[in-house]
This record gives sequence, structure tokens and C-alpha cells, in this order.
Amino acid sequence: MRITDWKLYTPGQDSHVFLELVTDNGISGWGAGFSEKGQVMGALAWLKRFVVGENPLEVERVTEKLHEITFWFGRGGAMTHAISAINIALWDLAGKALGQSVSVLLGGCHKRKVPAYGSVLFDPVGTLTERIEGMKEKGFRAMKFGWEPFCHQSLSEDEKLIRLVRKATGDDVTVLVDAGGSYPFWKLRLKDALQRAKMLADYGVYWFEEALAPDDIEGYVRLRELSPIKIAHGEVLARRQSFLPYLRRGAMDIAQPDVCKVGGLSELRRIAWLAEEAGIEVVPHGWNTAIGLATDLQFGASLSGRSFVEFNVGNTLIEQLAYPPFRLDKDGCLEVPSTPGLGIEIDRDVLKKFETSSDFKPIWRWDEEKLFEAARSQVTPETISS
Ligand SMILES: [Mg+2]
Repeated sequence: MRITDWKLYTPGQDSHVFLELVTDNGISGWGAGFSEKGQVMGALAWLKRFVVGENPLEVERVTEKLHEITFWFGRGGAMTHAISAINIALWDLAGKALGQSVSVLLGGCHKRKVPAYGSVLFDPVGTLTERIEGMKEKGFRAMKFGWEPFCHQSLSEDEKLIRLVRKATGDDVTVLVDAGGSYPFWKLRLKDALQRAKMLADYGVYWFEEALAPDDIEGYVRLRELSPIKIAHGEVLARRQSFLPYLRRGAMDIAQPDVCKVGGLSELRRIAWLAEEAGIEVVPHGWNTAIGLATDLQFGASLSGRSFVEFNVGNTLIEQLAYPPFRLDKDGCLEVPSTPGLGIEIDRDVLKKFETSSDFKPIWRWDEEKLFEAARSQVTPETISS
């Protein structure tokens, strides 16, 4: 079996590129990269000559070749995001060719279902209670709330927001909070983050995500030591080598590689192995697409310890692209497909429609003006601690 070509699909937004590897025996494999579209398209155009003609069963050799030939100009960033898409598609193809689910290829399927947490933004706060009700109806037992206005306002205003969330969820829901520290010009430092971690502990929040800027490793080492609740981050790191200093220094309780950015499933697996030796859990960042969620499920099933997946609620690219659709069971879990490959079919017609349709509404888009304005205008030293 040889890869003969690939097709790219770019839904009408700037953050996701879908890749379909085509083979000479008619089987297709799907992957996706989560990044700035133009840069990933450029990277893929350069990489294509090294993929076409390859045997998709040699997942690790082909992927390692791509890492090796891009050392000079692509250690991380869009090049690694592009390799992520190729690597995921290779795993999907290998599974389909061998008639096995990806979790079996990863070494074995330890569990038939994985709990999923519903993930939404705080904003718009006015509809938050209603959206929480909607998630409860869908069966979520765990929910994550992220980004502004949390950490872009005073501590007391942040506490009001968390009080509102906890009132709406009730005490039985696991609540996770994501500060969104990969915002440009992030302002919170160790003690600002620690104040919030202590406040979140009072409301039974399970983890505090991206409380500091992604590169603030010294801050994260101390925050993990001092915080009463778990510290999670890592969604913007690409390649296992980027995670190594955080794992070695104990700068996180939970590592959150994004499979569509980090280098694909091969890299996610290697990070999980390293993390296990360091006593750190891995819960993949899943604010991406149906391809990402399906891959996270197969990965989660392959872990012998506990697993958790992120389900970005209301994301068209998760909820309308995949067959069978992702549905929670009565325990708030997603079933791990046992069919070959990633275990989902991607609806090409819907994808093609999203490329041109003005009806397509992305769940989120990189809005430079909005992000820069938020970074510029809020959280003065006075409001941080008020
Ligand atoms: Mg996050």
C-alpha cells in the first residue's frame, strides 16, 4: 500500500486544516492541524513530496523523517502543526488497513469509554447559566470555563463569576477553570495566580489552567508547589522536547498537549510516557475538531490509568462532521469506537460546504484586535488584588 496523494479541506475559518491521505488501494486516512491556516498550508505544500509514495503502515519512520528534514527551519510552530495532521492521518490509515482501532495499535484498549468534560468560554457571561443548563441536559458531569473576563478583571469580580458558575452547575459537577494565559502580553504573575487558585479552591474547582504565560516555567514550578488545586497547561507547546523541562521540573500537575499541534498522536504518546515517569497526568487539549476528539479518545483508551477528554461544546467541526456523532452516555462518558482506525467517518460534503458557505460559524477565531485590546486594557496592579 502506498500513499498516492492527499486532499486538503479548509473550513471557512483560519485555524483548522483537514488532511485526507489517499492510497492506491482506495483507503483514506484523516488528520487535522490546528494553527494559522496560511502557515500550515505552506508547510504542507513543502512536506508533500516526502509523504506521497510512502507506506502508511510505517507511521513512526515516516513521521520521524518529517521531523528530521525540517530541523533547520521547523522545530515547532506551523511546521509541527502540519506534521501533526500527517501523523494522525497515518495512524488512521494504518488502523483501517490492518482492521484494528488505533487504541489497539497503540498497545491495547484499556477501556471502552472515557469521561468527557464540556468546554466553553465564560463569554458571553449573560448566557452562561443557560449554557450550563444545556450542558447538563447533554449529560456532562464535568465542565470547563475559559478565558475572558476571568483574569482580565479584579479578584473580587473573578470570584463573583465563579460563584455564578458554581450556583448554576450545582455541587455535583466537576468544574475546571482556564485563565487562557496564552493571551498575548499576559499580565498575571505567580502571586496573582496563587490568589485565584486559593479562591477557586473555595469553590471546589478541580484544576486551574494556563494561569501564567506559557513560557513562565519558574512561575509554574512555584505555582504547582503552592496551589491547593491542580495546575494544568501546555496547549501551545509543540514537540515532546518542549514538554521535557516542564516535566523534569514538575511545572504542572496535568500536561495538556494538543494532538493537532504537538506533532500528532506519536508525539502525544511519547509525552504521556515521559509524563508518567514524572508522576504527571496527561489530559489532551481538545478545543479543535472531530479528528482531534476521535484521536484523544483512542489515546485515552490506550492509557492504563485514568483518562479524560475535552469536548468543545457547540463546535460545528466536532458536532456536525463525524459519523457516528459523539454522544455522551448516562455517566457523562464517550464510547471509544472499536471500528478500524480512528473509528469515525468524516462527512466530506459537510466539510466542502463549510469551505464556501457563509453560514458556517466557527466556535472561535483568532481575532487579533480583540485579543490585543484585552491584553492592553485590563488588570492593573490595583484591580488584580482588589
Ligand atoms: Mg486552555
